Amino acid sequence: MTDQYLLVLDAGTTSTRAIAFSAAGAIVASAARPLTQHYPASGWVEHDAGEIRDLSRAVLDEVAAAVGPERIAAIGITNQRETICFWDRTTGEPLCHAIVWQDRRTADYCASLKPHEADVQAKTGLLLDPYFSATKIRWALDNWPMVADAARTGRLAVGTVESWLIWHLSGGAAHVTDATNASRTLLMDLATCAWDDDLIALFGVPRAALPTIVDCAGPLATAMVGGRMIPITGAAGDQQAAAIGQGCLTPGAIKATYGTGCFLLAHAGPQPPVSHSRLLSTVAWRLAGVPAYALEGAIFVAGSAIQWLRDGLGIIADSKDSETLAQSVPDAGGVSFVPALAGLGAPHWAPDARGLICGLSGGTTRAHIVRAALEAQGQQTADLVDALAVDGVPAATLRVDGGMVVNNWLCQDLADSLGIVVERPRVIETTAMGAAMLAGVGCGMFADLPAAAAAMAAADRSFHPAIDGAARSVRRQQWQTAVRRVLA
Ligand code: ADP
Repeated sequence: MTDQYLLVLDAGTTSTRAIAFSAAGAIVASAARPLTQHYPASGWVEHDAGEIRDLSRAVLDEVAAAVGPERIAAIGITNQRETICFWDRTTGEPLCHAIVWQDRRTADYCASLKPHEADVQAKTGLLLDPYFSATKIRWALDNWPMVADAARTGRLAVGTVESWLIWHLSGGAAHVTDATNASRTLLMDLATCAWDDDLIALFGVPRAALPTIVDCAGPLATAMVGGRMIPITGAAGDQQAAAIGQGCLTPGAIKATYGTGCFLLAHAGPQPPVSHSRLLSTVAWRLAGVPAYALEGAIFVAGSAIQWLRDGLGIIADSKDSETLAQSVPDAGGVSFVPALAGLGAPHWAPDARGLICGLSGGTTRAHIVRAALEAQGQQTADLVDALAVDGVPAATLRVDGGMVVNNWLCQDLADSLGIVVERPRVIETTAMGAAMLAGVGCGMFADLPAAAAAMAAADRSFHPAIDGAARSVRRQQWQTAVRRVLA
C-alpha cells in the first residue's frame, strides 16, 4: 500500500483545502479555495454551507485528478469546530446559513444560563460561551422559521461542518459526527461520548435532528470523488487533528499553535480531566469506541504582539526582525511585557485586562522591548502549563507550529522558560497531517496512531532547555509580578 495516498479535506474557517499525503507523510498535491465570510450584524459570523460543500467537492476532485483517483486509499476530514449547519434531510439543501464558532449572537442567552454552568461544565468539560454549538441551534430554532418548520415536520438535520460534508459526500447515506466534533457542541456527555438527555432538554434541541456520534477512524462513509467510490476513514476537529499530527499521543504531550493567538492542547489520557483553571476538557480522539481526552486553553495575544511592535509602535520593520533584535542583547534588561492587548485568556480569564510594559530604565532599547515581547510567549505558555499541572496533566514535551515558530530564538526561549524539550515538525501542515494519520489508521494502512506517527510525522528540530532552574524561576517571578500588576 506504500504507493497509495491519503486525501485530506480541511474545511477551515477562511479556506477549504484538499491535500494528498504519501504514506511517508510527504505532501504530494494540494488545492485551496477561499471561503466567503458573511457578517450580517455586529458580532455575527455566518458561512454558506452550500459553498463549503461545493468548494469541498472542487478541491477534492482537483487533487484526486492530480494524483490519480485510483491511488487514493482513503479520505480524512478535519474542520473548523463548533460551527453548525442546518439542512433539510429530504432535499439535502441548507435551510439557512451556518452559524460560525466566532459568532457572539447568543451571549445574552449564555448569560441567562449561568446558574447551570457548573453542571454543564461537569458533564461536557466546556463553559457556557456562545462559541459552542448548542446555543446557536437554539437561536436558529427561535429565529429562523424554516429551521423551526423543518424541526416540526421531522425534516431538520443539524451537524458540525464535518457532519454536513460527510452527509453530502456519502449522498445522504451517513448522518454522523466524530466524537471530537461532538464534544464541542455542549450536548455530549464527555465521559460516555453520547448525547445527553438533560443537555438536550436544557437547550431545547430536537434529538432526531442530531447526527450519530462515531469514532475518529474506521469506515465512516463512502464518498464519490474523482469518479470513484473512496472510503472516508478519518475525521477530527482541527485542534485535535493538529495534536494528533504533532504526535501528541501520550499524557503530557502538548501541542501549541503560535499564530495571531496561541491555541494549546494537552493530551490527558483515558479519563476526562476536570479543570480548576477554566481550561476546557475535550475529546482528543475516539478509536474503537474508546475515547482519549485532552485539556485545551487559549492565549489571546501571541503573534499579534509582534504585529503591534511593527504596526503600532513601528520599532521593527518586519516580524522576522524580532529574532535578530532579541539575540542582540544578553537579556531583556529588566523589562517585562504583558501583551494583554485583547485581555488575558486562560488561565487568568480577564477579558478586560490591558497590556503593560514595565521595568524601563534609561538604558532600555527597542531590542529589550522586542525581547520582552518574545519572552512573553514563553511565560504565557508557562502560565498554561502550570494550570495543566494543577489539573493533573504535567507537561512532558511541547510540539509547536504556526507562523511564529520559524523564529528559532523563540523556540529556544520556550524550551528555556518551560524546562522541557520543544519540538518543531518537518511538515507544518499539522492539522491535515492528523486527519491523514486518522484516515490511514481507519483504512488499515497503519495498525494504530503511534505507527502512523512513526511513518508520517517527523521532527524538523528539537530545542533543549539551556538555562538552570534558578534562572528559570527568576524570570518566572518577574513575569508573575507584572501579571499581578495587570490584574490589579
Ligand atoms: P494566523 O494563522 O493566526 O493568521 P500565522 O500562523 O500565519 O497566524 O502567524 C502569523 C503571526 O506570526 C503574525 O502575528 C506575525 O506577527 C507572527 N510572526 C511571523 N513571523 C514571525 C517571526 N519570525 N517571529 C515572530 N513572530 C512572527
